[in-house]
Amino acid sequence: MTKSGVRRIVLLTLGWEDLPKSVSVYGSSPTERMREPVPGVLLQTDGGWVLLDTGFNTALIRDPHLRRRYFPSLEYQPLLPGPGEPIEESLAEIGVDIDDIHLVALSHLHVDHAGGLKLFAGRVPVHAQRREVEYGLSNHPEPQRHAIFRVDFDDPTIDWRLADGEAEVAPGITAVPTYGHTPGHQSFVVQLDDSFTGDGGPRGYVFAFDAADLTENIEDELAIGGFIDVDPEETVEPIRRLKRLASDLGYPLIPGHDPHVWPEMTRHFHDRFGPVSR
Ligand SMILES: [Zn+2]
Repeated sequence: MTKSGVRRIVLLTLGWEDLPKSVSVYGSSPTERMREPVPGVLLQTDGGWVLLDTGFNTALIRDPHLRRRYFPSLEYQPLLPGPGEPIEESLAEIGVDIDDIHLVALSHLHVDHAGGLKLFAGRVPVHAQRREVEYGLSNHPEPQRHAIFRVDFDDPTIDWRLADGEAEVAPGITAVPTYGHTPGHQSFVVQLDDSFTGDGGPRGYVFAFDAADLTENIEDELAIGGFIDVDPEETVEPIRRLKRLASDLGYPLIPGHDPHVWPEMTRHFHDRFGPVSR
């Protein structure tokens, strides 16, 4: 019997962020700057497309007054790829209809991951960890000090599918808790459909998202610079756990915001799976 899994992976770049490297690698020089891609992962399954993470809320960036309120610091600058909604623009580029996305899953509620939820509210189920959403909706405005903006997800029409720990999001897509970066951060293991044999490539991939922003977080096991309610050193344990998981499965472990790896892997998936067929 063939086990159904993911048939195609497409990486999206939903914008960029200019920030100090110390946001990604704890203890880096605060004067060293990075321009990091904002990730989205599109997965084709038997039931339709699944989207992991949704990028920025464009309104908070384009409206100068809202931008001053939500992004007051020059330290951190969000950048949008085009004049419209980054998700709609990326989907148009690859020829996927937004109505063909039947499920959204969020790694966490940070501004650069949950901002595009407004495109899906009331339309498709949204998977996240229960403790992430509970944190985001409590103790206002404390989460906002940690770049979790309530306006992005405090919408009663969102059809939440809340998990408590490891969970199968869809066939071939498993959420793995990697708490620390935020209280309910999760990473994703993607397993390709059994029909994918023979091309010699890996049978799946592990997407760390913000449990590990950069290759050096993974290779050198360096603490990440963003964390809530834990000490920086505690962010290394989820990295080690993901490394072990990836190596046990024989899957590559892909960091969430690496400016070299993301475009490289975008090409890799394009070469491996070819253009989206309509
Ligand atoms: Zn984050």
